[in-house]
Amino acid sequence: MRACHLFAPFPIKSLVLFVAILASALVTLGPIQAHAASPKVVASIKPVQALVKAVMGELGDPVLLIPATASPHQFSLKPSQARTLEDADVVFWIGPQLEIALSGPLEKLAASAQVVELLKAPRLRRLNYEPEDADHENEAENEHGHDHNGVDPHIWLSPSNARALVSHIADVLSEIDPANADAYEHNADQARQKIGILARKTMQYVAAMRYVPYLVQHDGYGYLALEFGFNEVGHIQTTPGREPGAKHVAEIIDLIKSKEVKCLLHEPQFPPKMAQRLQAETGIALREVDPMGINLPLSEDTYLRIIQDIISSMEVCLQPRPQPSAE
Ligand SMILES: [Zn+2]
Repeated sequence: MRACHLFAPFPIKSLVLFVAILASALVTLGPIQAHAASPKVVASIKPVQALVKAVMGELGDPVLLIPATASPHQFSLKPSQARTLEDADVVFWIGPQLEIALSGPLEKLAASAQVVELLKAPRLRRLNYEPEDADHENEAENEHGHDHNGVDPHIWLSPSNARALVSHIADVLSEIDPANADAYEHNADQARQKIGILARKTMQYVAAMRYVPYLVQHDGYGYLALEFGFNEVGHIQTTPGREPGAKHVAEIIDLIKSKEVKCLLHEPQFPPKMAQRLQAETGIALREVDPMGINLPLSEDTYLRIIQDIISSMEVCLQPRPQPSAE
């Protein structure tokens, strides 16, 4: 049966290898001659930096504002980061729904820079959060958190969106720096091709994983689930970075049991305490995924690696495993 074949253990390295081959295959056209000094470009978070780097290529590295180890939902700006903003010609960020703490500083400090809110990029597919029945016991604390209302800001986790973002970034950079417009457009074209191939390859690759129910630590993977048709059944934190209250924990445990959820994906940006507690109580498998690409070196292909690493982790966690025999 086809399904059995698909559930056979995957060679986990194959997607990794594929991307490596892809990265080397597409550089055949070679870089376009760069002109003059490129502008000072700042990117808010690592995935944005990765997409901007794909467009800038040899023209330079965008400066990363928020370290990849921090959750973009909660961080505060240091004096050195404030100076980075003051010096910038252009700042790319997702928008106030994600990097909440940047809204004020961008207005004050990046006054001379062009500030580009990627959530407003053309041809982007945007998801809205369902109004959530948040834990009332946490309500007072929620005031300063990120309440995940309105548009879901984790747009980069959709490769289709990443392609639209690359186009928009290239348009912005070409306008600011027309001397290098050809190079930006050429790099963007290559990046769109690579992301497209990765998405198509991944689509085939994940066929057997689509039906396996899983949970995520915070509600940041809607775009990924939509793009590849994954069966995400819920999330642990109703407010990013804040552990859920007793009522929500009880609901999650019920959900794990009733839907036979086998996997919980958690993130290095948040403590794993609640994930570990759920594992102890239900036996659910844990696997870390990193939507921010913390440990990845910056290159034109960093974005591909972010997606590829998430898929590889999911593959391990969503593998069907023998049921523990009942009592
Ligand atoms: Zn998030």
